[in-house]
Parts: sequence; structure tokens; C-alpha cells
Amino acid sequence: MNPRTRPDLETIPSYVPGRNFPGAIKLASNETTFGPLPSVAKAITAEIELSNRYPDNRSVELIETIAESLGVSADHVAVGCGSVALCQDLVSITCAGPDDEVLYAWRSFEMYPIVTQIAAATAVTVGLTAEHAHDLDAMAAAVTDRTRLIFVCNPNNPTGTAAGRAEIERFLDAVPAHVIVVLDEAYFEYLRFPENDHPDGVEIGRTRPNVVVLRTFSKAYGLAGVRLGYAVADPTVIAALGKVHVPFSVSRLSQAAGVASLHAQAELLSRTDWIVTERERVRAALIGSGYDVPPSQANFVWLPLGADSVRFATASAEAGVLVRPYGVDGVRVTIGDRHENDQFLAFAATALETKT
Ligand code: PMP
Repeated sequence: MNPRTRPDLETIPSYVPGRNFPGAIKLASNETTFGPLPSVAKAITAEIELSNRYPDNRSVELIETIAESLGVSADHVAVGCGSVALCQDLVSITCAGPDDEVLYAWRSFEMYPIVTQIAAATAVTVGLTAEHAHDLDAMAAAVTDRTRLIFVCNPNNPTGTAAGRAEIERFLDAVPAHVIVVLDEAYFEYLRFPENDHPDGVEIGRTRPNVVVLRTFSKAYGLAGVRLGYAVADPTVIAALGKVHVPFSVSRLSQAAGVASLHAQAELLSRTDWIVTERERVRAALIGSGYDVPPSQANFVWLPLGADSVRFATASAEAGVLVRPYGVDGVRVTIGDRHENDQFLAFAATALETKT
């Protein structure tokens, strides 16, 4: 007889990370092409010497450094083992069973349905618009008295589209003030909006206690392998997150890397300008080759190839470039270095020729 686990786990899809194999160009996981800064690598190395000791479970120095960089007080910040851990913790502190609803757009970040099902909560999804963006009016209309949490992925993974500040504020005005709205800003640093419409969740949240902002060190800060993310929220939400936090799950190495990165913030953020310029070059080239590519505000572009998505991604892998297919919806392509992007563009130019 097999040991007994929750029978409903069988219905939960497993998270499938982007594929990798030696020698391939990997444009499948939205990582950054830049390696860690020497100062960050040095800070991590110094902590290895102290690995026999537990880390600071409250991550005081890191939290204070994040809070200072954002202009909020430390009781508004929580850290986690990647922002994905905080996604899961946020569902844990709001949902306790099938009567509790989690609302999100689809297609969006693949972990939303998974963390919802792990909590045995009920998922409510709202389709994207024809422009591959959040339909925030339809999402507001889908709120019920059972809605406990709403994920708004801004910019949206995998389509790269983003809502401006005015649109987000209008949505928040339409949502009851007790419902937690998570603005998942994993790709925040790649947003390029006019100043007066810049959708900065931390600013938006200053007057709205139900807003929770998630950010990560995995993308613009180049620390995907270190695992560090943070939430900015009302102190009552931060205190609740503290209850479900797995003790010591933000390692010494993560804490040191986060602090060192924030000390080198200007240098790290200047790299995003390079990625944004390259993103626009890649998008223009793809459009020139005949693809439909929605404007992207992230470090990737979206090719809505429909039923051709898996074939396209397989052919791209055979040509040595790994990209990420999403069922019958599309393919997401991370912006890499110039050579990597050129390799992909060369493949993409021929892939459409072959098809037509
Ligand atoms: N949110 C979104 C929208 C993401 O795309 C990702 C990473 N793919 C995450 C959260 C989680 O990032 P991490 O756990 O590496 O901080």
C-alpha cells in the first residue's frame, strides 16, 4: 500500500522550469545575462565562512536596507526565499479552504494556480484582453464576497504587458478595501512609463493598506540563483506573513547578497537600460520578420503563436536557443546578450519563412 498523501495533490500541476542543456543559449527563464557584481560575490563568499551558524531569522539588516531604499518603515517589509515563497505565504494568510477565492488573470504567472490549489482555495480567472493585457474592469467585476486575494502581475509574465498607474488606481477604487491586492512587480525595474503614470506599487500602496507589492532580486539584480524576494505591505499583513514564514528560509548568503546589491543599486539598475534598449531592438526585428509582438515592459517578449507555439519552441531548441512555449497561447523569449538575441532572431526569421 502506498503511503497516503492528499488525494487532491494529483490535480495540482507541477511547476515546470525552463529547460536547459549544455551549450544551449538559454532565453527561457527571464534571468539576466549579467553575472553578479564583484562586490556582491565577495559579500556572499564572506558569509560562507559563517555557514555553521543560523542566519538572522528576522533579516533585520536586509529589511532595514530595503525599507530605506524605498522610503518606508521596516515594519512594512518582509523577505522570503524568492518572491514565489511570498506568493505562497500570501495565499496561506488569506485562504483556508474552498470557500475562499483567489482571483487572477490568465494567462499569467504559472505559480498562481499552483499556490491556490496547495491552499485548497478556489481559483477564479479572468481572460486577458485581445492586446494580451490584464482586463482590470472584468477582474473588478469578478470580485465576490468570497474573494480573499487578487494577483495582478504588472508587468505580466509571460506577455510583458503592463498597466499604468491611473489604470491600477481605478481598479483599486473598484475593489473592496478589505480584499488584498498583490501587485506582483517581479519585472518592475524594466518598466518605462511616463513619470506621471509610472505604476510604482510602493507609491500606490502608501494610501492603500490592502495593497501588497512583491519584488525580487532574481531579475534586474541578477540573483536568481541566490533566492531572495520581498513584500511591501501594511504592518498587519507583514505580521501575518511572519506567522507562516519557514524559519531561516532566507539564508545568510541571500541576506548578504541583498544588502550588497542595494549598496550597488545604481550600477545594477543602469544595466536595465541596456536590456530595455535591446528589448526594443529585438521586438522591432521580430516585427520586421512578420511577427505580432505586443509592446513589452519586462525583460522578455511574447510571441502569440497559438497552436504553433510548441512546434516553434522545439525548432528553436533544435537551432540551439531555448525559449519557453505556453501551451496553445504563445512563446516567451527572454532578452539575453547581443549575440544570444541575434542567434534567436536569425532562427525566428527562418522559422516564419518555413511556415509560410
Ligand atoms: N512573480 C513573477 C511574475 C515571476 O515571473 C517570478 C519568476 N519567474 C516570480 C514572481 C518569482 O521570482 P523569484 O521567486 O525568483 O523571486
